[in-house]
Amino acid sequence: MFHLLCLLLFLLPSSNMYPGVSAVCAFRTRCFFRRLLPDLPAVMHRHYTLDVAAPLLRTQGYVDGRWISAASVFPVLDPATGQELARVSDCGPGEAKQAVDAAYKAFQSWKGTTAKERSLLLRKWHDLMMLHKEDLAKLITFECGKTMRESIGEVMYSSSFLEWFSEEARRMYGDIVPSPFKDRKILQLKQPVGVASIITPWNFPSAMITRKVGAALAAGCTVVVKPAEDTPLSALALAELAEQAGIPAGVFNVVPSSREKTPSVGHVLCTDPLVAKISFTGSTATGKVLLKLAADTVKRASMELGGHAPFIVFDSADVDKAVAGAIASKFRNSGQTCVCANRFFVQSGIYDLFLEKLGQAMDSELRLGHGSDPETTQGPLINVRAAEKVVNQVSDAVSLGAKVLRGGKRLEGSFMEPTLLADVTTDMLCTREETFGPLLPVVRFNTEEEALAIANASNVGLAGYFYSQDVSQIWRVAEALEVGMVGINEGIISTSEALFGGVKQSGLGREGSNHGINEYVEVKYMCFGGLKL
Ligand code: NAP
Repeated sequence: MFHLLCLLLFLLPSSNMYPGVSAVCAFRTRCFFRRLLPDLPAVMHRHYTLDVAAPLLRTQGYVDGRWISAASVFPVLDPATGQELARVSDCGPGEAKQAVDAAYKAFQSWKGTTAKERSLLLRKWHDLMMLHKEDLAKLITFECGKTMRESIGEVMYSSSFLEWFSEEARRMYGDIVPSPFKDRKILQLKQPVGVASIITPWNFPSAMITRKVGAALAAGCTVVVKPAEDTPLSALALAELAEQAGIPAGVFNVVPSSREKTPSVGHVLCTDPLVAKISFTGSTATGKVLLKLAADTVKRASMELGGHAPFIVFDSADVDKAVAGAIASKFRNSGQTCVCANRFFVQSGIYDLFLEKLGQAMDSELRLGHGSDPETTQGPLINVRAAEKVVNQVSDAVSLGAKVLRGGKRLEGSFMEPTLLADVTTDMLCTREETFGPLLPVVRFNTEEEALAIANASNVGLAGYFYSQDVSQIWRVAEALEVGMVGINEGIISTSEALFGGVKQSGLGREGSNHGINEYVEVKYMCFGGLKL
């Protein structure tokens, strides 16, 4: 009877925008814990409150420098508890069109600003992110589930793109090319492409926006951002800070939308003739849909798509470093990053030792819980579907002969035990598709050729990692891996100074680094003739 009451209360629509406001809302949340999370540590039965300074907890769309409401709202949930955090304006194609028009209008003046002016505004935006880093991190933890430590890390990473591109803005040099004609000069001038549509995923709700927007604004483009349904709050907080930084109206627009409205919003953002460029981060399947939409008006496109990273440990490796790298690369954000190691290949000479040390490290280092608890290293997955995908891969592997050395179970809600599988083979699902969860499957191999062949047998190629202390092997393997980014004796490689991007069906273009700004730039050839020299 009690459970039935809980269930009824849980299903009741709440009129509250913020957590902990009414007794009904709090009661609903506690019921959710009891119903869904019995296997988790006792600490999970606490009530968690998102206490963020009011100006940063925005729930409306941001278009042309104004906060706009839509005809309806959609809820944003804490994936750890199912608790409703906020209700956000559900922007549709109308609001998306308004945003594109505003960005196009703003582009006419923004492109005329000096690089130094743009640089100073980006720098101010970065500084405000730093000032509010705790609150921005709380938003990330509550809407996407990652731990506070990782969320602070994401805010630092995210703001670093505004800082980096504020510096790059002033180095957007063109060329003066030696001319073969005495009466003509050849100039190559860099100009912004125009309005850019930016579509981002939930797993880095802040950094996936700034990595694109920093480059776009630095180049002189204006943008319309559509964040993921699960994580609009971080995007809207960025809009608030952009406004405080003095970024002019229409330069940065955000249209949050529910999954139902997403295709119609995406249609506007990828087909409107006023949009010159689309930049997308997300799954390969969605990337293909957006590329097809953009083809009719031949828009420029950058695509940061799915990965399936191999992690190879050779006999010559320092096993302790390889174990530390494996833990960092696999279990960051509970395995939900596109560069997470997905397939582990370990050479036969150190296979048993590696598994033993890895199992011990998982026991001592990984703790499940709510991301806001300081003890937690592993939050929930983004939703129940994501946890079911991991369970499905585990069952498939076990049915084909894999051994579960650690974990293997889905806990209630979207929590999944960190899982270690041995005796994995390349016919198992977990070595053929991206997991996006805390599953670490280990395949034994004998030779370097064999490892490279199975690592490269994939239609995607984002990141790849390997551990070896043999310098010649390091060169051979680094060059032979079919990926856009290689970690050599290193499991965490992302930084704003280095490029980010993949080969094969992992995408098109590069973000960050000295290359990122070029995604938002056209190079115009000017032939200056008739000169009497
Ligand atoms: P997803 O389903 O492709 O969604 C990503 C974004 O696209 C969300 O904002 C989503 O909106 C939107 N979207 C979906 N269908 C759309 C449509 N028809 N028109 C316009 N927008 C549309 O990806 P995900 O599951 O959230 O993210 C996980 C994937 O992203 C993984 O494959 C991961 O590897 C990849 N990823 C890649 C990188 C990289 O840099 N290469 C970085 C992070 C993640 P809704 O939320 O409303 O559906």
